[in-house]
Amino acid sequence: GRTLPQLLEQAAKHHPDRVALDFLGRTTNYRELWFQVQRFAHALQKLGVQPGERVAVMLPNTPQFVVSFYAVLLAGGVVVNTSPLYTPHELEHQLKDSGSETLIMLDSFYPRYAEVQERVPVRRVIVTGIQDALPFPKNKLYPIKARKDGMWVKVPIGGKVFSFTQLRKSQPPIPQPAAVTPGDVALLQYTGGTTGVPKGAMLTHENLVSNAEQCRMWMSDLREGQEVTMAAIPFFHVYGMTVSMNLSVMTGATMVLVPNARDIKMVLTQIARTKATLFPGVPTLYNAINNHPDLARHDVTSIRACISGSAPLLLETSRKFKEITHGANLVEGYGLTETSPVTHVNPIFGEQQEGSIGLPVPGTDALIMDDAGQPVAQGEIGELWVAGPQVMKGYWQRPDETDKTIRDLDGKRWLLTGDMARMDEKGYFQIVDRKKELIIAGGYNIYPREVEEVLMTHPAVLEAAAVGIPDTYRGESVHAVVALKPGMHVTEKEIIALCRAELSAYKAPRSVEFRSELPKTAVGKILRRQLAKEAAERRS
Ligand code: ATP
Repeated sequence: GRTLPQLLEQAAKHHPDRVALDFLGRTTNYRELWFQVQRFAHALQKLGVQPGERVAVMLPNTPQFVVSFYAVLLAGGVVVNTSPLYTPHELEHQLKDSGSETLIMLDSFYPRYAEVQERVPVRRVIVTGIQDALPFPKNKLYPIKARKDGMWVKVPIGGKVFSFTQLRKSQPPIPQPAAVTPGDVALLQYTGGTTGVPKGAMLTHENLVSNAEQCRMWMSDLREGQEVTMAAIPFFHVYGMTVSMNLSVMTGATMVLVPNARDIKMVLTQIARTKATLFPGVPTLYNAINNHPDLARHDVTSIRACISGSAPLLLETSRKFKEITHGANLVEGYGLTETSPVTHVNPIFGEQQEGSIGLPVPGTDALIMDDAGQPVAQGEIGELWVAGPQVMKGYWQRPDETDKTIRDLDGKRWLLTGDMARMDEKGYFQIVDRKKELIIAGGYNIYPREVEEVLMTHPAVLEAAAVGIPDTYRGESVHAVVALKPGMHVTEKEIIALCRAELSAYKAPRSVEFRSELPKTAVGKILRRQLAKEAAERRS
């Protein structure tokens, strides 16, 4: 029964001098971080932020993100994690849907907000520049600037626009105690949008603290106050927020903040400089590191443990990553926004099964069910249902969607994940694929992942996706989209021949498209939906 700000308060008490944040070499300890969080919470209260009010936070991984996140919660507010990659249209949807009255953002994103400001409920905008990062400049106030139409313009402070630095400086660190309890909603986390319109999952303090605790128990050899976490995956996505941020705070680890995980060179430099020990990530990130031309110039062997989540970890990727780190323990896990997010991970000690998401984390139950809501026979494929303290309260203002997604059974609240899975005789789970992305060709079910595993075995292939496109005879047929490694070449015919050799004929792609890079979500998931749509449009 703890709240998220209590985790930080405890870290400040037990590890006051331990570096909490390392932002490109600028460091801040836990005592100072807690002090700044209290100050900013006080400033938010003075501005009029009320308990339960939604505060949108649109920041990359920076000290300002960490300060804003815990300060909003300490003031009793609800954080609305907002992707810095959003277009004005997406930003408008989220600000309206969440009813956010306050927005905290980086100055360079300001023009996107300015485009929609008349149509959103925001009453206060707090802007910060990247130079405002902790340790905060003592007496200096930098001008807040944004780039618009290729020109740098000053963001006008005044009216409803406030400077993060000015606000923070103006208040002593004594916020009014807000009556926050573990059952209160802490976060509205919009679903990734990989398959449809984003919905806000309501995650409580208890959900999020439980999930950090479940991960801590799973990593039973975590050395309290000694680990260094590469915080490269974004905090504005629930996976980075729990595994890189909240888990680090819970265990007094140093967070190495990387504002842009796509900058692989920066990731490599920061690992080598800080001798990072833990590196939560996603398959596309590990894959990009494995194939980076500068890899040999950076020492990545300090990395000792990694959880890979959010998408299937292909065997090729994990084998190579283990090799370059001289044996880091890279284990596949699984989760979703609605479960804070982690529900399954391969054991870090004990039997790890390649291609499996492992076992449910402590306190989590899992079932494999058929469409009628009955358990399937052991080993059969069905939908994965999960129950545990990390399961969300529901979707924000969408009771119908909540009812469709959460089911009461045997005294437990089960979340229907929308993923097809199977469980083996040892209790290990395997994700077959998303229910929605199943390709049905001539009446046969094809799981794209199976095709992608084969595509990735080709030495020239860097990234691959298999999608279904309309086909007059079969309903759908398999279309492959691949990006090749630099300087490599392969023909459509060769790719199809490889798949024909490895897969039943109906699963092999009928067409192959080459791209320099595949489109991805903010967290790095390949957007199969977009690829399928574009391929279908070109056909018609
Ligand atoms: P949306 O729900 O809006 O379409 P999304 O599903 O990408 O977007 P997230 O909650 O970020 O939103 O992702 C959860 C999904 O990611 C899971 O339901 C599952 O399909 C996929 N996933 C996560 N981990 C794994 C894994 N290890 N293997 C396969 N799929 C995974």
